[in-house]
Amino acid sequence: MVIQWFPGHMAKARREVSEQLKKVDVVFEIVDARIPESSRNPMMEDIIKHKPKVLILNKSDLAERDKTKQWIRHYESQGIIAIEIDSIHSQITSAIEQAAKRATTNIFERNEKKGIHKETIRALILGIPNVGKSTVINTLAKKGAAKTGNKPGVTKAQQWINVGKSLQLLDTPGILWPKFEREDIGLKLSLTGAIKDDIIHLDEVAIFALNYLIEHKYETLCEHYKIDFDRDGEVIDYFDQIGIKRGMKMKGNEINYELVIETIIRDVRNKKFGPITLELPNDELS
Ligand code: GDP
Repeated sequence: MVIQWFPGHMAKARREVSEQLKKVDVVFEIVDARIPESSRNPMMEDIIKHKPKVLILNKSDLAERDKTKQWIRHYESQGIIAIEIDSIHSQITSAIEQAAKRATTNIFERNEKKGIHKETIRALILGIPNVGKSTVINTLAKKGAAKTGNKPGVTKAQQWINVGKSLQLLDTPGILWPKFEREDIGLKLSLTGAIKDDIIHLDEVAIFALNYLIEHKYETLCEHYKIDFDRDGEVIDYFDQIGIKRGMKMKGNEINYELVIETIIRDVRNKKFGPITLELPNDELS
């Protein structure tokens, strides 16, 4: 598998984020609720230093509810303020406003004692591409102020978006790059669509997906493809069975594996096997 770590991009992103950080009181670090650790940039803490932070597990509609709760408990037990949101289908303003207040209470109290009175909290959205930064900003702005899509390096005049009564959000998110020196992190990022499909070989991603489904969603897997898979069989045979069942053939009656692989990955991304959480707090992650 190809392992990527964008050192040049990272240095530039880091500089840009450092500039944005100077303007805000609190950082909203957005991650994908299906892979809360793998979708974090490991240098995040180092970059934001002691700035108050709220960890936002976005796309909660795509993740398993009880496992998301486990993650929130895990982070809160480490003193990290963490909330879950579904920025497409639900109201998020008050949850975000409240979390920002929780994260900044100490600072605002300290300022008051020094005679510095501030009414509004200023915040920056930060995260790796495709975790939903722009969607969150758009939902909070309620008028499509920030364009969705990942466009690092595009500069424009930054503006503040009013969120509720007490929060102001920078309309441009800070973008950091994912780091995936560990193979499973790359596979998870690819399966959830966080990195482009040409970075990691998709056959490996599909095998990873099938292994996960066999272990955690075996019945749903069989039901979806209407195949009675052999649980102890070779994963490679699953490709054949899906290809035959779906008539995915090429000239000469050979199975079109590329199509089978794309189908499996697309089905996972489109929630055909229900919500999916690919990692838990006690999994070993370095
Ligand atoms: P960004 O690169 O971090 O700004 O990510 P985007 O805001 O462009 O979102 C990436 C993709 O994730 C888009 O297709 C969004 O529609 C989708 N997305 C964002 N938030 C959510 C969410 O809460 N639930 C679901 N199901 N999809 C989301």
